[in-house]
This record gives sequence, structure tokens and C-alpha cells, in this order.
Amino acid sequence: MAAKTDLAFQKCISPRCGTTYAIDEVRVQCEACGDLLDVVYDWDRLRPPTSLMYFEEKWTRRHDPLCFSGVWRFHELLPFAPQSQIVTIGEGQTLLQSAPAVAQFVGIQSDRLFLEYEGMNPSGSFKDNGMSAAFTHARTIGASRAACASTGNTSASLAAYCSVTRLMKAVIFIGTGKISYGKLSQALDYGALTVQIAGDFDDAMARVKEASRELGIYLVNSVNPFRLEGQKTIMYRVLEGLRWQVPDWIVVPGGNLGNSSAFGKAFSELYELGLIDRIPRLAVINAAGANTLYELYDRRGLRWNQGAPNLDIVSSYYAELDQARRRASTIASAIEINRPVNLNKCLRALEACDGVVREVTDQEIMDAKAQVGAGGLGCEPASAASVAGARLLRHEGVIGANERVVCILTGHQLKDPTATVAYHTTDQDKFNEVLGSRGVQRAAYANRAVAVPNDFDEIVKAIQLYS
Ligand SMILES: *Cc1c(COP(=O)(O)O)cnc(C)c1O
Ligand SMILES: [Zn+2]
Repeated sequence: MAAKTDLAFQKCISPRCGTTYAIDEVRVQCEACGDLLDVVYDWDRLRPPTSLMYFEEKWTRRHDPLCFSGVWRFHELLPFAPQSQIVTIGEGQTLLQSAPAVAQFVGIQSDRLFLEYEGMNPSGSFKDNGMSAAFTHARTIGASRAACASTGNTSASLAAYCSVTRLMKAVIFIGTGKISYGKLSQALDYGALTVQIAGDFDDAMARVKEASRELGIYLVNSVNPFRLEGQKTIMYRVLEGLRWQVPDWIVVPGGNLGNSSAFGKAFSELYELGLIDRIPRLAVINAAGANTLYELYDRRGLRWNQGAPNLDIVSSYYAELDQARRRASTIASAIEINRPVNLNKCLRALEACDGVVREVTDQEIMDAKAQVGAGGLGCEPASAASVAGARLLRHEGVIGANERVVCILTGHQLKDPTATVAYHTTDQDKFNEVLGSRGVQRAAYANRAVAVPNDFDEIVKAIQLYS
């Protein structure tokens, strides 16, 4: 249990339970009731800055790694560890990019759409924000091995932090055939022990929990509450990119629902601290082939309900999934998850942020991805769910044409070249194999390579014709 004098501690998210734990306890769930844990702070005594402008001053000191890091320059808003224990490999140097062409595709005013490109992180996805925080916690308790189950990006991030910092050894659990080459290559290249389980992500997740409990390995999946502390900073950087103005919408893909949960916590805390005067709305976008949150929230009316969600709705849905032997299936492999571990926290975030949930098809995801590529820095398929979802919400009239919208591009464009090349290919077999099997029927925005004979005149002709 946490002591009264602790400035930071862990606490069960269920208001009916509320059991507390000291910051140096390693847990991924509440001992008393099994619910998720939060990191909470005694803000009255910690006295964080009274204005967000405070953080701009850190830019003048960016030779200091703790000011350079896009996570740790906000240390005062996630003060669970002393400066001396902080782990950083330079995460969070991300861009908030105004994207007029993508705005047009979404159907909003050209200067109102922003893409938060988390692909610029050291391992190419937003996961590094959370990993730097989890590593910081792991360091304070002296862990020597860390594990995760992963659809690819968590493992790439864990492996990168292990190889750069040498603080821990990485053990990675992946499902069979569900991981993109870009991500798998990172885990192997960084030297992580990679355990391939005959099963999918949900199976790997169940196994890694078991193994880390039995073997005392530090678990870095997003059930780890410290991961989410790091991921709060994505929202701080969005605000920073907007000169501390609060946008109208944050749109994010939903997989294990760690990001959406972290964003809700970030805004709730900023509001409570008086650092912002309103909370943006949150839209969480599922892939139609992995739509548990959409099904539960939108169709079956599951709500946080001030901390008393009707969990019978959840268990009966999971029983249905089991009975039908339904497995998650989408080209957006990073969100190919049917049992999101942060479900309860996400429900809380949706309540705090007056949120909405939608699902988009793989066709919509791949078309949106092509538009992001053509009008921005590009992204991997899962990330494009945010843009496809924003477009859907605009068509429904839920998002207004002059509202300010931020879509989170969670992963780098080069994470999954197979999907990108299949979309743009002229080879129908390749298209069918990768995308047709996912129900993608056409590539409306394909940019096809032009085949020409090895003949200079023909090449010139092709350039004249197509440029
Ligand atoms: C992990 C991941 C997601 C899903 O995020 P959650 O926090 O699990 O909902 C989405 N996109 C990419 C690229 C990811 O790596
Ligand atoms: Zn509890």
C-alpha cells in the first residue's frame, strides 16, 4: 500500500475499490479487484508549473537530454521518478504537420487538419513515448529483463531501448504470421530474444502475462501504467504544436486502447491543474475486423458509468467471440486485437472527453493511407484508421467543416511496405494476396509504376506522357 506521504503512487482505477500501491511495486493489475492501475500524483504538494508556456523555456536547454526528449521535457507532468533515474534515447522529436491535401480528403477546411507524426520516434512509432517511461520505472526497481507481447511496434521499441541503454534484456512474444517485416526486422536486428507463439496477438498477450508473472520479468505492454504516463506527452506536444491552443478533436486508432486511455488522462489532469480551459473531444477508431470497442460502446451501450461499467456486456461479448471462434482480422496489424487490455481506462477517457467510437473497413484504411502518403509524410495502415475515421465523422456531420482536428499517425510509413506496395502495384495477384484477402477491392488512389522497354525514346515518351 502507498504511504500518505508519497508524492506519486499507483491506484486502482475502480472508484469502488481504489486500492493504492507504492510507486516501486511491480503490478499490472489491482490485487484486490483485478482492475487496471493508474499512476496518481499529489499535485498539491508537487506544485507543477502554472502555465504550459513554462515548457517552452526547456528548448533553450536542449543540450540536456532531459530537455531534448519530447517525453521528459514534460517531466513535471509525469513526476513518478527522480531525474537521476530517467531513461531516454531521444524519443518524442515529432512533428505536428498541417496537411491541406488530407484536409480536403477528410472534408474539412484546408488549414484545420493536423497530422501528429509519431513515426519520427527512434523506433518509428509512438510506442517509444511509453517505453522511455516504462524503462525509467524498471530502472528504479532494478529489473534485468523486460517482456512484451506485440503486433510489432511494442517489440521494436522494447528491443531498441534494450540495445541502446543495455539496462535490460528483451524477451518478445509474437503471434504467427501477423507481424510486418519492417517491425520483425527491428526486433531481430536489435538482438532481442523473439519467441514466436503458434497463435495470434490475444494468445501471445495471455502467455506473456503468465510468463512474466512466473519468471519475474518486467512487463512493458500497455497494461503497465507507467507506459501510459509517457504516452500522455503526445498530447502535450500536440498542444505545443498548436501554440497551447486546445483543438476540437483528437482522432486516434484503437488497438489495446493504451493511447486513447493516456490521452484522456493527460487532458483530465491538465484540466484539473487549470493548465487548459476545455477538453477536446476524442474519437477512437477501430478497424472493422477488430472492432470490440465499437461493438461494445456504440452497439451495446457499454459506458464507464462513473466507474461502474456493466462488465456483463463485455463477458457476454467475449463468450460470443469464443463460441464463433472469431479472430481479429485486418490489414492494420497494429490494431488487430479483439480483447483490448485497456478497455476500462478507455471507457473512462471517452467519458472525460465526450468521446465517440467508429469502425472503418480495410478499404477505407488503405485509401486513407494513400491520401496520407500523397499529402503528408505517410504512415502505416493502422495509423490511417484515424484519417479514415475523421472522414467518416465529417460525413456524418459529427465533426464540423471548420473544427480543428488532429489525427494521430501512430507509426512510420516504412513499417509495412508490403501493404503499401500491394496497394500501388499493377500485379493483380500481389494485390489479391495481400489486400484482396482482406476485402479490399480497389485501389482508388494507386500511384502505379509505369513499365517501359529499356529504350531511351520510349522512356522519354513515358515521361512526357505522364508528368
Ligand atoms: C500500438 C499501435 C496502435 C494501437 O495503439 P493502442 O494504444 O494499443 O490502442 C496503433 N497504431 C500503431 C502503429 C501501433 O503501433
Ligand atoms: Zn481494485
